Amino acid sequence: MYKSGKRYFDFKTYLINRFEEKVYKVTIDAGFSCPNRDGLVGFGGCVYCDGRGSRYRKNGKVIVPIEEQIKLGKEFYKKTQNAKKFFAYFQTFTNTYSDVKTLEKIYKIPLKDNEIVGISIGTRPDCIDNEKLDLIDSLNKYDKEIWIEYGLQSIHDSTLKFINRGHSLQQFIEAIELTTKKNIKICVHIIVGLPYENYDMIMETAQFVSKLPIHGLKIHCLLVLKGTLLEKIYQKEKFRLLTMDEYVKIVVDILEILPQNLVIQRLTADGYKDIFIAPEWAKNKLKVLNAINKELEDRNSYQGKFFKS
Ligand code: SF4
Repeated sequence: MYKSGKRYFDFKTYLINRFEEKVYKVTIDAGFSCPNRDGLVGFGGCVYCDGRGSRYRKNGKVIVPIEEQIKLGKEFYKKTQNAKKFFAYFQTFTNTYSDVKTLEKIYKIPLKDNEIVGISIGTRPDCIDNEKLDLIDSLNKYDKEIWIEYGLQSIHDSTLKFINRGHSLQQFIEAIELTTKKNIKICVHIIVGLPYENYDMIMETAQFVSKLPIHGLKIHCLLVLKGTLLEKIYQKEKFRLLTMDEYVKIVVDILEILPQNLVIQRLTADGYKDIFIAPEWAKNKLKVLNAINKELEDRNSYQGKFFKS
């Protein structure tokens, strides 16, 4: 059992262990675009991506300066949770998609804040190189925790092609190899329930991830959202979506084969209520999380039970 009472190593427990109190995530939209949307890699983006970005862009508002976003995020958690420590998450689109000088200016903003204990930079595996990683590594001088997050989604190139990811498994492997040479923590994202992926394919992705030299994992449930390419494919092909029971059992199967020290940052998808189409059950995040906890209890199981190094 972890401090949170969970049977898996959740991010909350990790942060409390590391920083001796609860740490709250402040999300940042630094104004980046995505090479899979603007034509550099592809057009239209990943089929499931709604392309709206942060709540600023969604509402057609101007993106406020990063300093202001941090201030607003911190104020919210201070007021509602009496928060004292924060983690800055560069979340919107591809947060390494610029030149090194610009990136340095942007990344430094939260690092100068004494209440921010770390940053996390979300990006694509084909949008990183040694120069950018050297820059990110150099941020360790601020004595904060530095994470990078790579979207993998699936190890199957046929699926990556179908969902229009615009990169291959090989590109992901190269990004991981480059990153492990630096002092940067790595979190990987995968999606469970991708069109035409069967159980074995999902577990092959999980097995692959379980052997990676990484520190964190986010497991997302595939959502069909209004206005996405996936919505059109779903309407036309009516591919099968997982039931909640199937999703829960698969997630627990995945947790069982992961190493115990891999931090689980996410176990389902979140938000999107205004453009949500399917699967209906995924709207209720808490219910899904409770069902995962119950399945672990019923099996008397835990993260890493069947991990093979
Ligand atoms: S890489 Fe991310 S931002 Fe770009 S299209 Fe895919 S999901 Fe959207």
